[in-house]
Amino acid sequence: MNVLVVEDDKLLGSGLVRALEQAGYAAEHAPDGAWARAALEGGDHDLVILDLGLPDADGLDILRGLRRRRLSIPVLVLTARDGVEHRVAALDAGADDYLEKPFDLRELEARVRALLRRSQMGFDEEIRLGTLTLNPFTREVRCDGTLLDLPVREFEVLEMLAMNANKVVTKARIAQRLTASNDDIGDNAVEVYVHRLRRRLGDHGLRIRTLRGVGYLVETG
Ligand code: CA
Repeated sequence: MNVLVVEDDKLLGSGLVRALEQAGYAAEHAPDGAWARAALEGGDHDLVILDLGLPDADGLDILRGLRRRRLSIPVLVLTARDGVEHRVAALDAGADDYLEKPFDLRELEARVRALLRRSQMGFDEEIRLGTLTLNPFTREVRCDGTLLDLPVREFEVLEMLAMNANKVVTKARIAQRLTASNDDIGDNAVEVYVHRLRRRLGDHGLRIRTLRGVGYLVETG
């Protein structure tokens, strides 16, 4: 596993590289945006840890560029900026997860492990979440073993939430996904689909939480 650490703080960058190497990964340090872009052009990284505040670039622009070219590489964003809008902007730009500085190295390592595990799951594997199983390949959804006959858009919303279980998915990302595969959707469409899914899944112990102004999160129990 090859991790690219994009971080201009030299102490933090080299500390992260050392911690990742101790955890058994290969790690490369990019101290600025230009270095990061060059490394990402030629490299075969399995994960990127990306600081947003770089001397020569905005980390969000690097992230957007990456998403335009290589959709699937997991990106963990580091941000010193607090406030919900920065986290939302990072998630909307395609970050898979984020950590606010200062953070505990153990938490960073746990998030790296989780992201790598998820990215290696592949697309033909079933997603399991409590009593729910969802097969992205056959589009079959079962709850307590019972087949649920979901309309296409509800399936797409549930798939996004289930693939990001216990993590926030922003409303804008869900809307983007829906507009990518359908003609056009109304302003309230995401809310309508989430509402319908809640009704279907409520009896099976799955909860879709609303984080006001941020998005949704599916959790078991
Ligand atoms: Ca920085």
